[in-house]
Amino acid sequence: MCGIVGCVGEKQAKNYLISGLHRLEYRGYDSAGIVTIGENNKADLLRAKGKVVKLEALADKKPSTDTIGIGHTRWATHGEPSEKNAHPHKAGDIYLVHNGIIENYKELKTELKNYKFITDTDSEVLAALINSLYDQNTTLADSVNQALKLVVGTYGIAVISVRNPDEIVVARSGSPLIIGVGDNETYIASDASALIGFTDKAIYLNDGEMAICRGDGVELRDMSAQPISCKVETIETDMQAIQKQGYEHFLLKEICEQPSTLRSTLSGRINVKDKEANLGGLNLSSDELRKIEHVVIIGCGTAYYAGLLGLYYLEQLVDGLTIDVVAASEFRYRSFHLPKHTVALVISQSGETADTLACLREIKRRGIKTLGIINAVGSTIAREVDGGVYVHAGPEISVASTKAFTSQVAAITMFGIQLAQVKGADVKEVSKYIEELAKLPDEIEKIVSKDKEKIEKVAKRYAQYEHALYFGRDTLYPVAMEGALKLKEISYIQAEGYAAGELKHGPIALIDDTFFEVALLIDNWLFDKSLSTLEEVNARGGHIFVITNSKKAIKSEEIIRVNTKLDILAPILINVVQQLFAYYVAVARGNDVDQPRNLAKSVTVE
Ligand code: GLU
Repeated sequence: MCGIVGCVGEKQAKNYLISGLHRLEYRGYDSAGIVTIGENNKADLLRAKGKVVKLEALADKKPSTDTIGIGHTRWATHGEPSEKNAHPHKAGDIYLVHNGIIENYKELKTELKNYKFITDTDSEVLAALINSLYDQNTTLADSVNQALKLVVGTYGIAVISVRNPDEIVVARSGSPLIIGVGDNETYIASDASALIGFTDKAIYLNDGEMAICRGDGVELRDMSAQPISCKVETIETDMQAIQKQGYEHFLLKEICEQPSTLRSTLSGRINVKDKEANLGGLNLSSDELRKIEHVVIIGCGTAYYAGLLGLYYLEQLVDGLTIDVVAASEFRYRSFHLPKHTVALVISQSGETADTLACLREIKRRGIKTLGIINAVGSTIAREVDGGVYVHAGPEISVASTKAFTSQVAAITMFGIQLAQVKGADVKEVSKYIEELAKLPDEIEKIVSKDKEKIEKVAKRYAQYEHALYFGRDTLYPVAMEGALKLKEISYIQAEGYAAGELKHGPIALIDDTFFEVALLIDNWLFDKSLSTLEEVNARGGHIFVITNSKKAIKSEEIIRVNTKLDILAPILINVVQQLFAYYVAVARGNDVDQPRNLAKSVTVE
């Protein structure tokens, strides 16, 4: 969470800072700020509550030729969103932007007796600490280094000083930071999207590393101040991928581009003719794969639900395999035991999710192989896992995750196919999955190109409700939870996702005229049972909206029928309808669908 930018060199800094903050705004948008340093070492600090456009309006009124600066778009953890609490924070001669949480800020604060704190943030304490060490005449880099040794918590920071306005000192532990290498220009960003169009060369900082960035180069160090060599990598993302391309919202664009993003996930990995799936980057031999007896799937939010749907597919595909799906924020503090021959599938769109990263590190420490299912190339989790796959869904900018879910489920399914094959599963059974995966992008295409208007009409009917209950059986249970999550994230309607069979154990008591129900049904062996649940809800005056692939008569207020021959993967299609439904409900309620309240993308704090 939170976006950090910075630049130093020959060019006017403000241009990159504001453009970068706009690109990173999805990571936090309750306040924003920049500081630049110019002639006579004079600093110009601008901060505003609210979105980056407000800051931009301030910056537009103050033309600047300053060539060094840092900026921040905040997702508050300590202290309310306000101009006062917005970063950069000033302490003496230094300015600091921070992403993360300084957990021991209270103790540090009491030790900094002589400092007059202005804000309510943990970050200002770090700024004051660095400044107090800097006052003892060390260099800025040494002061940062000494201060960080006293800090408990997570951070990605960028610090500048009016005493030496030629360098930005950056450091990270637990929060991402990237250094962009330009011509006589060095950029800082907390994710690569800020750098696109400025440079395609990047150095990804690892935890425990810091750097002194100057216009003409970068000096990388570890925390014992020893120099380390820089690895410059190329950023592959292009400008188009981070633009709306004519869509009203990124969310709609990302839902509608799923046919092509899913094709990228599948590309080169499934072969319908030879009935094979092969994920190149697992770094596991056939023998190691064959020995796998247990899979633990770890994720948060939508990635967790992708894992839950993946569980059903893995169970069906691989005989004898046991599977756990765990929410990373819980799992990291459990006294868990994992059996021998376990692999962990670590799922994260951003590859930076703090809770998921913590689980990954603990699991690795126990000697268990970890495989990543990650979207963001070069991200921390992607670099720390033993192997895995990039889902290649392209940048997901809308805060609510959509296309990543579809690609994550496809990736888990391919992993299951590969596992099943190596363990000698029946080719006919396995090839059904391959065939359905191959057809899936075209089937999604039909929905996003033909069904939008129908779905929008239904969405308008339910947009004014304040409560919703989603339910489905079997593979549709995780889909129901994901549907409810999507609706609550962007429409703020209270939504619960339940296993259909669980309704009568409690949630059915909720049903009244203030609720509507989204019933998910697939025409398979459980169809009649699902129909019975639906009848039970109807009998209690439910307001039911059905999403189904069935052509049979179903009693409900509204129904969207997905016209598909897919059977096993039909839940993914039903989910696409739910995504569009949530989108149109949020639009009808006049919400900011790409940047919903209280949320931010890339959850790098606990
Ligand atoms: N903990 C800091 C604050 O609340 C940084 C939050 C962020 O990462 O945006 O200001």
